[in-house]
Amino acid sequence: MSIGENISKITSQLPEGVKLVAVSKYHPVEKLQEAYDAGQRLFGENHAQEMVKKHPQLPPDIEWHMIGHLQTNKVRMIMPVVTLIESIDSVKLLKTVEKEAARIGRSVDVLLQLHVAQEETKSGFSIEELLNAATQGQLEGYDHVRITGVMAMATNTPDVKQVAHEFGMVRHTYDLLKKEFFTYPEFKDVSMGMSHDWKIAVDQGSTMVRIGTDIFGPREY
Ligand SMILES: *Cc1c(COP(=O)(O)O)cnc(C)c1O
Repeated sequence: MSIGENISKITSQLPEGVKLVAVSKYHPVEKLQEAYDAGQRLFGENHAQEMVKKHPQLPPDIEWHMIGHLQTNKVRMIMPVVTLIESIDSVKLLKTVEKEAARIGRSVDVLLQLHVAQEETKSGFSIEELLNAATQGQLEGYDHVRITGVMAMATNTPDVKQVAHEFGMVRHTYDLLKKEFFTYPEFKDVSMGMSHDWKIAVDQGSTMVRIGTDIFGPREY
């Protein structure tokens, strides 16, 4: 199937209001253009350099999402092009994003990344860390950053129950944060679900799925 057919197959199964981020890391710009021509506008990249390189080669109305671990020294590089930073995994990174957004006079939307998987390699706040940071006021007072939700990955396991449980915890944490701390309407997104687990994520209340392989095929490293 073509990239366009893959996209329509997925979008036809997504409940209304659930957004699709096409994860285009390691894929050439020609493939992104093909997705764009099929109507796709949200793209997710993992690496700062790759996003910055692809950005000028593609139409300006694409929304670029940073979904990979972001080092503080790469924030400046992506600030002119990024739409949503999904992978805020520390207060330090949040502060750097604020500083760099202020420096070029823009504001930027971000998601707080939660670590719920049983895998050390994945990054993010633990639920406890995130609630502590919120309670201590460390997630407030940023004039150039708007926190619009949370993001997470589940453990890479065939155990559907475990994956559902992890996604359920993310949704629960989002609901709690929304009720207690981020009561404004723009705090609206729960980004969870990839090629192999997005249906489980949607069942658990995802509002944004990030899909690469099922759209573009295997990555060309
Ligand atoms: C690569 C990646 C995805 C997409 O993975 P696929 O299995 O190719 O759909 C989603 N989220 C993050 C954070 C990723 O790094």
